[in-house]
Amino acid sequence: MIPRDTIDTIIQTARIEEVVGDYVTLRRRGVNQLGLCPFHNEKTPSFTVSPAKGIYKCFGCGKAGNSVNFIMEHEHYSYPEALKYLARKYNIEIEEEEQTPEQLQELNEKESLYNLNLFAQQYFSKRLLESEEGKAIGLSYFKERGMREDMVTRFQLGFSPGKWNAFSEHAIQQGYKKEFLVKTGLSIEKENRLYDRFHGRVMFPIHGPSGRVIGFGGRILGGDKTQAKYVNSPESEIYNKSKTLYGIYFAKNAIISKNSCLLVEGYTDVISMHQAGIENVVASSGTSLTHEQVRMIQRYTSNISILYDGDPAGIKASFRGIDMIVEQGMNVKIVLFPDGEDPDSYARKHHPSEVESFIAANSVNFILFKTRLLLAETQNDPIKKAALIKEIVNTIALIPDGISRSLYVKECSGLMNIPEQALMTELNKILRARFKKSSPEQAGEMEAIPTEQPVSEPQINLDPDSAEFQEKEIIRMLLLYGQEVIQIKLNPSDEEEVPVGVADYVVHDITHDEMTFENTLFKSIFDEYVRGVENDSIPDRTAFLSHQNQEISFLAVNLVFTPYELSENWLKNNIMVTTEETRLQMHVMLALHAFKARKLDKMMTETRKKLSDAATPEEQSVLMKTFQELKKQSIQINKDGLGRIITR
Ligand code: ATP
Ligand code: MN
Repeated sequence: MIPRDTIDTIIQTARIEEVVGDYVTLRRRGVNQLGLCPFHNEKTPSFTVSPAKGIYKCFGCGKAGNSVNFIMEHEHYSYPEALKYLARKYNIEIEEEEQTPEQLQELNEKESLYNLNLFAQQYFSKRLLESEEGKAIGLSYFKERGMREDMVTRFQLGFSPGKWNAFSEHAIQQGYKKEFLVKTGLSIEKENRLYDRFHGRVMFPIHGPSGRVIGFGGRILGGDKTQAKYVNSPESEIYNKSKTLYGIYFAKNAIISKNSCLLVEGYTDVISMHQAGIENVVASSGTSLTHEQVRMIQRYTSNISILYDGDPAGIKASFRGIDMIVEQGMNVKIVLFPDGEDPDSYARKHHPSEVESFIAANSVNFILFKTRLLLAETQNDPIKKAALIKEIVNTIALIPDGISRSLYVKECSGLMNIPEQALMTELNKILRARFKKSSPEQAGEMEAIPTEQPVSEPQINLDPDSAEFQEKEIIRMLLLYGQEVIQIKLNPSDEEEVPVGVADYVVHDITHDEMTFENTLFKSIFDEYVRGVENDSIPDRTAFLSHQNQEISFLAVNLVFTPYELSENWLKNNIMVTTEETRLQMHVMLALHAFKARKLDKMMTETRKKLSDAATPEEQSVLMKTFQELKKQSIQINKDGLGRIITR
């Protein structure tokens, strides 16, 4: 258990823009910061971070929360896991309270897998650098490949001893459970015995975006052709191959600062590039990029260069895969290495500055690259050329941005020696057909091609006619202005206005009339304000924004993050922004009136219903009295019409 004090310290210390900034490139936009949402696929940023309030919200998919929520959502961590992550980030020491044996046993399974991987990584590194076998076989292999020691250290490379169960045996001895050894794939169970999956291999730990080891790749030594050159960890709860990019943890900052990401094939390419001083590089490990991997890159940049070894057949085979990257709104470039060279071998043979300038000089936009390569094959065969045009235009049509599309049409028309208009006509045909498919009723309106899901706010868009709508308004007032002071006449007949705290006033007014909330979440927030008023300590908004109950914190964030605050125009023109504050008194009154009017309406309806069901005259008379009383209150409240203004 993490003590409450420590939790508070973590939440107060963590800066939302820094926490999010580790994963998303943020740009300043007024008082907020804006970036591409990491939780859904989008091409124009709607992910908003408010440093002042310590919260984020995506106006595309509706995800919202504070630093802790962000890490939970993004890393799929539990609440304590997320707190620990933030504590590590900000060097806050966690002195855990004593745990019961049950709690210890429940120590999250994922955490156990991470722990075991860390243990394994340290074991393999130690074997590589300190054991005779490791030095003689593993380290000498890396040296032979020209790998510098600082790279061995940075990438935490290792060596798994040749003995078939050396690691498994050691891990069991150290108290690690068989279950997790098998789940991480470090060990393979056969006939009740544990074998080391990676025995006799040099080890490449695979790090997640936050630097934790999620899996391993192991390369065989020597020329045993009967065994696979590379063996990788199987998928597990913490290792999902299609969502992993090798090197992302080490490349993140460079990708952001260079606003570009280089994609290579594997472990050795990534490391050799780093050794040559090029750090914005990741590998997809063998396969073509998946949708999720592209999205991961897209958080940092929309420019990607794919580095290929000089094999045209291999590149042609990957065209479809690259189309998918184009479709996701990325600018894709291709860098072709000379025949027989891959980034690894090229980097080893050349000076770092040569590698850099080679890449710069040989980056070709994918669409132009594709056009050139296919054009070379048509050899003026008109039928082949017609097919080529279709093929190229199909790819251009995938580009979400219209201006880019027309630029490519221009370029390609020059390359293929075909009038621009001819390509344009072909392009429009495809776009129209595609648009028809996606929305039949709007076909023909080219410009309106939807490239993204519409912006929506699914969470608490309550029906204005429901009682919850007014309840929401009250809670929003409390969260935003609970600690502020307004001037109020305590009785309508009073001449003088006196200063009253908003929370004090709202709580007293509602509890005085013995009214309650229907929505349980709103109710529990309100109850905390009631307690606060009783104890003379009005809760701070941040207590709700970082509430341990995820539902409450989520709700609070959504309520506090009012859309008008984010509207660029309003911010620019500086109108409306302060309206709510300056007219605070009026707004509080309106919200209370609406709330009460609505409750009274409801109570009257209920009473009327009971009245018609009433069995005895006594019962009827009691209900009648109640009804009259309610009616009186209602008239009073609606007299000035205030109640209606805010509800409709
Ligand atoms: P060599 O010394 O023979 O060139 P290599 O270790 O450089 O061997 P390559 O066959 O050149 O390996 O492959 C290039 C990259 O592709 C390597 O960095 C490796 O990470 C990656 N790779 C190859 N096969 C696999 C595989 N089965 N799984 C994951 N990655 C692989
Ligand atoms: Mn190689």
